[in-house]
Amino acid sequence: MLPGVSVRWASLSPRPQQSPLTAEWRSSLAPSDAVRLRAVRHPRQHALSVLAVVLLRLEAAGALGVEPLEVPLRWECPGCGAPDHGRPLVGGGGGVGGVGGVGGGAPLGVSVAHAGDLAVVAMSTAGPVGVDVEVVPDGQDPADLRSWVRSEAALKATGEGLAGDAAASQAACAVHDLALAPAPPGVVAALALLH
Ligand SMILES: [Zn+2]
Repeated sequence: MLPGVSVRWASLSPRPQQSPLTAEWRSSLAPSDAVRLRAVRHPRQHALSVLAVVLLRLEAAGALGVEPLEVPLRWECPGCGAPDHGRPLVGGGGGVGGVGGVGGGAPLGVSVAHAGDLAVVAMSTAGPVGVDVEVVPDGQDPADLRSWVRSEAALKATGEGLAGDAAASQAACAVHDLALAPAPPGVVAALALLH
């Protein structure tokens, strides 16, 4: 993995009793998270979104040396600025790619993605980061999706969202194909770091 960058992923199990969303994990969810996630109505999408937020809090807690519920996590839409959807930011400050000033220390860039049954969290002490993941449909060449996930990761790192300039975003970033380990079947992922 790249210096200062960590990636963690988890998968919802088709069997609820094998889900990583144990009571202990769920206790890492803040009341403000629960309010925001209430808008995700579809049960499986909701479980996946919960999984992503729990992963994010656990990873950020480890990086910051605080409890998961103490992670200063907020959300901001790059399009409309609303706090109830969009990308995650850790820390009090604004900025692109999920970077906030954290206690005067190095800024922590965070990004989350989910696809299929997978949730992925990327974290960087080296500046803004973007991650994207897609499940390759049966019969499709994974190579066809690679450029898409690379582009999405770069747009997330630059904070431009779906309406952004994909070419300019990619030029502003170092984009890496990401191998999740242990490799889940049929998944492509990419990680972008803003220069
Ligand atoms: Zn919005």
